[in-house]
Amino acid sequence: MGLGFVKKINSRITMINLSDLDSNIYLLDGDTIIDSGTGSNFVRLYEIFKQMKLDFDNIKNIVNTHMHWDHIGGNGFFKNAKIHIHEKDSDVLEKGNAEMCNSMYFSGNMHPMKVERKLKEGDEIFGFKVLHTPGHTAGSICLFDPKDNILVSGDTIFSDGVGRTDLPGGNESDLNDSIEKLSNLNIEAILPGHGEPVLKSGNKAIKNIISSVAEEL
Ligand SMILES: [Zn+2]
Repeated sequence: MGLGFVKKINSRITMINLSDLDSNIYLLDGDTIIDSGTGSNFVRLYEIFKQMKLDFDNIKNIVNTHMHWDHIGGNGFFKNAKIHIHEKDSDVLEKGNAEMCNSMYFSGNMHPMKVERKLKEGDEIFGFKVLHTPGHTAGSICLFDPKDNILVSGDTIFSDGVGRTDLPGGNESDLNDSIEKLSNLNIEAILPGHGEPVLKSGNKAIKNIISSVAEEL
């Protein structure tokens, strides 16, 4: 799909990709976003929002799938938004821990952020169930919509592979357990933190990913 695309997933969710360095941003119900990218390419987001007749100030909530800068760097642009993140990644935001969020790699300027709600396994948020899926970071989450069988997967799983575990907070054996946990769900669509979505037969995609990872070992 190339650089910078907008894709309507269903009546609630629009996927926004600003660049290869930014996480995908999922706009939910016109007032909530899941992940915010680095913030470095928000000139583009401003234009995309303008076409949707949206302003940054319309965004009331941000859910971050984990603490890395390419998913949280844009948070500060949404002045009216309350931040939601798993309890195990929350203190990196609250303390403004540049090393743990890897902001230097993106030339980002990390500042402490107020966290409104610290999420836990099984919490309900905006129609999604919080699944704690540690491995990429200790507080990585996936959001699962059991009605439409949609998984917003952060950097835990992508359309063609799994998240890396060599960054701050990473743990390979935790990641394997988390992928195993996801493989037991009935998933149709996977909306990952980077790259293209899987729109059909998400379970099959996960099985293929598991077997390709196993072959690499
Ligand atoms: Zn990440």
